Parts: sequence; structure tokens; C-alpha cells
Amino acid sequence: MEPQRSPLLEVKGNIELKRPLAKAASRLPLSGRRLKRGPDQMEEALEPEKKRTRGLGTRVTTTHPRAAALNSAPQTQGQTAVPRAPRKSAPRYSMAVAPVLKTQKPGPVVPAQKPGTTAAPPMVGGKKPKRPAWDLKGQLCDLNAELKCYRERKQVLDQENQQLQDQLREAKQQASVLGAERRTLEEELTRVRAQAEQGQRELGNLSARVLELEERLGTQEGLVQELQQEQLRLQEERRGLAAQLGEQERRLQTSEASLSDSQAEVASLRQAAAAREAVLAEREDRLHGLEMERRRLHNQLQELKGNIRVFCRVRPVLPGESTPSPGFLQFPSGPCGPSDPPTRLSLSRSDERRGTLSGAPAAPTRHDFSFDRVFPPGSGQDEVFEEISMLVQSALDGYPVCIFAYGQTGSGKTFTMEGGPGGDPRLEGLIPRALRHLFSVAQELRGQGWTYSFVASYVEIYNETVRDLLATGARKGQGGECEIRRAGPGSEELTVTNARYVPVSCEREVEALLHLARQNRAVARTAQNERSSRSHSVFQLQISGEHAGRGLQCAAPLSLVDLAGSERLDPGLALGPGERERLRETQAINSSLSTLGLVIMALSNKESHVPYRNSKLTYLLQNSLGGSAKMLMFVNISPLEENVSESLNSLRFASKVNQCVIGTAQANKK
Ligand code: ADP
Ligand code: MG
Repeated sequence: MEPQRSPLLEVKGNIELKRPLAKAASRLPLSGRRLKRGPDQMEEALEPEKKRTRGLGTRVTTTHPRAAALNSAPQTQGQTAVPRAPRKSAPRYSMAVAPVLKTQKPGPVVPAQKPGTTAAPPMVGGKKPKRPAWDLKGQLCDLNAELKCYRERKQVLDQENQQLQDQLREAKQQASVLGAERRTLEEELTRVRAQAEQGQRELGNLSARVLELEERLGTQEGLVQELQQEQLRLQEERRGLAAQLGEQERRLQTSEASLSDSQAEVASLRQAAAAREAVLAEREDRLHGLEMERRRLHNQLQELKGNIRVFCRVRPVLPGESTPSPGFLQFPSGPCGPSDPPTRLSLSRSDERRGTLSGAPAAPTRHDFSFDRVFPPGSGQDEVFEEISMLVQSALDGYPVCIFAYGQTGSGKTFTMEGGPGGDPRLEGLIPRALRHLFSVAQELRGQGWTYSFVASYVEIYNETVRDLLATGARKGQGGECEIRRAGPGSEELTVTNARYVPVSCEREVEALLHLARQNRAVARTAQNERSSRSHSVFQLQISGEHAGRGLQCAAPLSLVDLAGSERLDPGLALGPGERERLRETQAINSSLSTLGLVIMALSNKESHVPYRNSKLTYLLQNSLGGSAKMLMFVNISPLEENVSESLNSLRFASKVNQCVIGTAQANKK
């Protein structure tokens, strides 16, 4: 038969087994509550305990319940011989108590002994014999015994109760401990779960990372393979380069050997070069000396030719003009025959007013003129320029040069100075040719250490007022605001205020300036008819040269002047308002031209006073006329018979100028 299980055993078992706390509470031996557990679970949970209890139970069952109950009291007070089960959490739970609690039942009431009977009646069948009713004493005795028994039992029960309360307290404490433990465990569980989740996430990340790394590993492996191949290739290349290096080193050695030879050669060459440099320097010195000598001789030659020279140029008959009678103009050959450049001109004039007494026409009068050079109508622009190129070069050597074109309107002055129409290079005049020549000679002299700069200006003097022909923009065609002034206080140099001074270095720039001047004249022409022929055009080029190596400097102006028409006013013309204006113009022109003649005369006579200031023209040109200046005058002549009077006037003026000339001019004197 299965011994009855004590709830205390269950408690103990629960405590010892440390069942989950949620269920442990329900196993406490609380009155009125039954264990809510399946028999299997119970069995399983209590298995080890059951065995022990059984062992105990065997012993307990051998004891009489009452005796046990009676014995248990002293035993529980420390005298029991029953071996105690090993206790863990509740050591005070005595296994001996269990049967007591379970089996205690009020025992059968012992029948009271008859009064007067002290001894209990003999037991019948294990039961106390019922005392007869009269045995009050015996009954009392029984009751006393029973009372005593109850008292003892009560005492035992009190003790048990006490123990149970202790156990309950302990169990509560245990429960609270376990509850705390549970909370700790729950917290720990939460933490562990969080850690697990974290771990999971990390695991996920790590596996992604692993995948990535694996991918990278794959790439790296590919790269490693490539690098290995590259390494192999480089090793191969290195072997090749090493071979080349060996070859180069061998060559280097050879080169070094030849270098040392070359160095020796260079040293000897340097010596030779130094010697040559010395020679070169000496030659340069000599060359410079020769250049200076050339300049001196050139100047001497120019002076011998005359510091004032006069060239006569006769223009051809233009289409539509009447051909002059034969012999009107003649160009007698020089002493050396036709190969000599002509220097003489003979003009025949038949004067109708001078008749003979017989009434027959007088023989034409021959007028012979001799100049430094005469250019017949067929002479080209190049031929003319050739004669003056040497003179122009004097300007580079530092001598002022002035070239005039004198003559009546339509005689070819502008053609001579600027050139013919249409931009034909063969018809180019003296100004573009002179400048081209200067630029090219300056370039040649650069090789000898000379550097040159050129600044151009172009003005017009009309009725004693100066106007800038290079004016641009709003100032185009305007006049009157220009004045001739000294460049600075005490300076000999003259400058025209408000006029443009344009640096030039090539032909194209000069062409542009001449074009601009033509435009400016055209604008003026609309305001006043044929003004260009009534004014002097002065093209000036300031030439500055420097030899930095020798500290030499030279500067001189080259002036190219297209003078106003020299014709006189016909005295027979009626003096209307237009003619009066014309007369004033003519007087101004005649005055300035005669002043020019007077200045030249005064210069040649070496007079103390030269009347430069008598006209704007001579005032502007004073630096190009005096001192060591070279002057050339072209006298332009019309080939037409109708212009004979003006031609004679021009030739006479030019002859006067020519007479001023010392040297060759003297020889030309008639
Ligand atoms: P000016 O300036 O003295 O008034 P131009 O130079 O204007 O005279 O010449 C008048 C005309 O004669 C122009 O048509 C010009 O082309 C022409 N002419 C002048 N000289 C020559 C020449 N040597 N050869 C050809 N044509 C000329
Ligand atoms: Mg002209």
C-alpha cells in the first residue's frame, strides 16, 4: 500500500527541486487548496523524495501511530533516532512529523473504569473495555488519562503548529527570495534575449560582411593573379633593361672617353674662339670706325653736292591735254653726252606782244636753266627716288633733311611726294619710298648695334593756320586749334600742339597714315574747294638712333613738304567776294613761299638773322633748314605751253634757290 504523502514532503521536494517559481507557489501546503498537478507530474517531481519517504515510511509504519505520535514529541525535541534526510533548503522539516500529522486521529475513547477500580479493565480484541456506568472513578481515571493524552497531543499539535508556522514563514521568505531571484532571472533573460537579438543582428551583419569580404577576396585574388602576371612581365622587362643598361654603360664608357677627347678639343676651340672674339671685337671696332667714317664721308659728299640742291621735274602731258609744240621744252645732254643724267632744261617762249617792226612774229625766246638734276617727263618715281635715297640716309646719320616740292597747281607736286592714284607700287611717291628705305637701313644698322625709332606727324598749313592731317574721330577735318610751340623751355625742338605724333615701324603703318591724311583733306575739300592746292602739307618724321654699346645717340627730323601752288592770281580777274578770299589765300601763299626763299638765301649767305618766324611754314621747318641740314627742292613743271608763264616763274625761283648753293651750284651758274 502507497504510504500517504505529506504536503510537507511536497514542499520540501519543491524547495529541493527548485521548480519554476510560478508553480512552486501552488505547492505550498495551504489549507483548503489542492495540488493542481497531474499525477505524472507529481510522481516525476517527487520521484527522488518518494524513495526516501518510502524508506522512512517503512520504518514509520512499523511504529504504532499513537506510539509514534507519542514518541515523536521527544524525538522532535532532539531525541529521535530516525535518520534525517539530507536537507537543502528546509532542514528543519522533520520526516518523522509527517506520519504524525497524517495519521493522527482521535483515538477511541477508553471506557472509564468503575469507581473504585484503579486498574483499567482488560483489553478485549485490542479495544479498551467499556467501564460500567458505576465505575465513575475508573471512568474519571480514563478521562484523566484521555485528557492527559489530549493535552500531550495538543502540546504536540502546538509544536507542530509552531513548526508549520515557522515553515510557512520560511516558505514565504523562500518565496520572496525566489521571487527576487525570478525577477533577476527574468531581467537576465531579457538581457540575454536582447543580447541574443543583438548577437543575431551582429551575426547578420557579420555574414553580410563575410559575403562582402569573400567577394573582395575574389577580386583581390584576381588582382593578385594580374599582379603576378605583371610581376613576371616586369621581371622580363627588367632583364631586358638590365641588358640595355649594360650596353648603355659600355657606350657611356666609350662616350666618356670621347668626351674627354672632346673636352680637350673644346678647350682648344675655346681658346681659338677667344682669339677670334678678340679679332671680332677689333673688327667691330674697325667696322664702327668705318661706319663713322662712312657717315662723315657721306656727309662730305652731300655737302659737296650742296647742302641745298634743286631738282627739276617735268610731268608728262596727261590724256586730254594739248600736246605742246616741238621744241617747247628741251633737255640738253651733259658734257659727257646722252649717257650723262640731264641737268639742264631749255624752255622756248614765243612772246606775241613783242613783234618785229616788219610785223613778223618775234623768234621764240629760249630760257635755259641748269639744276642739280633734271627729270624729263618720262622719268619714273624709282628713278627720282634713287637720286635722293642717299640724302634720306643722311637723316639716319643724324643730319636734318628737308625735301620740298615747289610748283604751280597741277604740275605734279603731290604725285612726286605721295604718289599717283590707285595704289600702284610703281607710282609710289617719295614719302612711302623714303620711309621704306629708312626702315630697311635701320634694320641693317641694327647688326652694328644701332637701334632706331620713328615718330611721324602730318600737318597742313593753310592761310597761316596749322591743321592736323592725322586727326581722328571728332577732330577730323577741323582746323585752327594747332599751334607751333617749343617742345619745352630752352628746347630747340618744335612741336605742334594738338597734333598726333604716331610711332611707326613699318610701311603698312605709314600707308595707313597717308590714307588718313588723304581722307582729312577730302573732308576739308568739301568745305572749301581745292584747298589742298592752296595749302602746304608737311610730313615730318622724327628719327632717333642709339648705339647702346658705345653710348652714342643721334636724332634728326626728315621733312617732306608738298608746297601750295605757286601760281599767281590773274590780275585781269574781277575782284568779287570769292576772288578777294582767293587773293588773300594767294597773298598768304606767296608770302610764305617768298619767306622760304629769303630764309634759304639768309642761310646760304650765313646771315646772322634768318627770318624763320615770318611764316608758319619756315617756323615749323627751322630745325630742318639751318646748320648741317640738307635741303632738296623739287621744282615741278607743267609740260603745257599754256602754263609757260608759271613754269618760267617756278624755274626762276628755283634758280635763285640754286644760286644759293655753294659748291656744285656755283658751277651751274650761267
Ligand atoms: P599738284 O600736286 O602739283 O597740284 P598733282 O601731283 O596733283 O599736281 O598732279 C596733277 C595731275 O598730274 C595728277 O593727275 C597726277 O596724277 C598727274 N601727274 C603729275 N605728275 C605725273 C607724272 N610724273 N607722271 C604721271 N602723271 C603725273
Ligand atoms: Mg598737290
